[in-house]
Amino acid sequence: MSVREPGRCTIWWIRRDLRLDDNAALLRAALSDTMVPVFVDDEGGEGAWGLGGAQRWWVARSIASLAHDLAQRGSRLIVLRGRAAAELVSIARACNASEVCWSRRFEPAAKRQESEVEGALDQAGIGWSSFLSNHLFDPDEIQTQTGNPYQVYTPFSRNLRARGVPGTPREAPAVLPPVGPAPAGLGADAMAYEPVPDWAGGMRERWTVGEAGARAALERFIGSGALSDYPDGRDIPSVDGTSLLSPYLAFGEIGIRRIWREASQARGASAAGIDKFHAELLWREFATHVLHHFPRTEDKPLRAEFAAFPWADDRPSLRAWQRGRTGYPLVDAGMRQLWATGWMHNRVRMVVASFLVKHLLLPWQDGARWFWDTLVDADLANNSLGWQWAAGCGADAAPYFRIFNPTSQAEKFDAGGAYIRRWVPELARVPDKFIFAPWEAPATVLAAAGVRLGREYPEPIVEHGFARKRALDALAKVSRGS
Ligand code: FAD
Repeated sequence: MSVREPGRCTIWWIRRDLRLDDNAALLRAALSDTMVPVFVDDEGGEGAWGLGGAQRWWVARSIASLAHDLAQRGSRLIVLRGRAAAELVSIARACNASEVCWSRRFEPAAKRQESEVEGALDQAGIGWSSFLSNHLFDPDEIQTQTGNPYQVYTPFSRNLRARGVPGTPREAPAVLPPVGPAPAGLGADAMAYEPVPDWAGGMRERWTVGEAGARAALERFIGSGALSDYPDGRDIPSVDGTSLLSPYLAFGEIGIRRIWREASQARGASAAGIDKFHAELLWREFATHVLHHFPRTEDKPLRAEFAAFPWADDRPSLRAWQRGRTGYPLVDAGMRQLWATGWMHNRVRMVVASFLVKHLLLPWQDGARWFWDTLVDADLANNSLGWQWAAGCGADAAPYFRIFNPTSQAEKFDAGGAYIRRWVPELARVPDKFIFAPWEAPATVLAAAGVRLGREYPEPIVEHGFARKRALDALAKVSRGS
């Protein structure tokens, strides 16, 4: 059992672990007489992947929420701005701290930042310790039988499951050590971000940012029956059939072991629901494993032959996709849900990503960048894996000849068109029969629904059959290596 260490001061360097529950770094730091919780706004430390707009909006609120939770337990959040290494050494000296603790991250830039911090602390003679707080398993611990990193999900997940149930989550301390004499820092509102013009209305409506919001989302998911129905419900974008935990996970506002455990123990939940949900959590572990071992995949294809693929350079089509004006209702609904709420349903992410890279032959990196800027749950590992899956150039990716048909996907997963009507309101009065392909509707039907194609709603920007053949021809060449 851990015991409190008298006379010691420890810095808790807060990274993407903006929570008090099941946080190994916090628990370690909280053993000291005084503990100084520090968040460093180190834009350069994120490399080419600084926070996008939606996440800047999110993190400001998350910091404010954590500051509140810390204050309630007798502590105080200190926000600093600058290079993490220099800021941490400086505050550790100012507080006479003997140690700095943090949670590990696995993105390439975050790893560089971490080694810079370790070096600076070593040089200054200050101790440090780092912990695995946001993943179930350390990506370095997992290897194939031949000692290599995994590139295929199924054997990877089998390996993880064979390791047994992840450790028990540990509760947040009820009381935290005082901060003691420490610099004031910038205050929690230093990160405040109100976009002008205000595009965040839909996000404010959708999300309760912070640790309490994360716990409420988990309780809703488990208590509403969504977990039991998850194997089917997770594919229907018009209902909240998934956990909606991704933004909380991206910022570490909830611990992965807590989610795993609560789902396992959910009373009355179907075994199939729990198992499928666990499988998705393991996709997240897989994504981190791949990015950690193949850091170039943050913006380059894992399958090198794709590097020379002749992607199109077609700004008007990219813009139509971004704005939800492609003329394909399911694609447009997804892109508008993303813009309005900072989140998009997984099934629809697959469809819009496939549409960008296969129907429009635009580089997956363009899509990944747009997602990065607009998603509240942007996560470098999950996003790179998801986009490379869609493009067919990543780990365990979709085969090149799998090209989603956006019309039949809508018929299958949005039967009745509720999702499309919600996000593409100009089509709300189009009858069920034509809601997935309004260009097939007779002019009289469209007129009765108040739609003129090319006016209220666009014509399809590319014809499906033509686009499919063009993509198959181009991708087959890459796949054959010719
Ligand atoms: P749930 O279905 O409730 O799943 C629970 C958790 O499991 C998720 O929060 C997530 O952490 C993990 N998970 C689920 N599906 C996946 C997956 N396919 N890959 C990795 N982890 C998964 N997810 C992100 O968190 N950030 C991203 O930037 C991101 N970009 C994506 C881009 C593309 C092109 C695609 C196809 C998928 C992307 N995903 C991303 C994965 C997935 O769409 C989201 O994790 C999911 O929609 C989040 O909703 P949820 O929390 O309700 O998911």
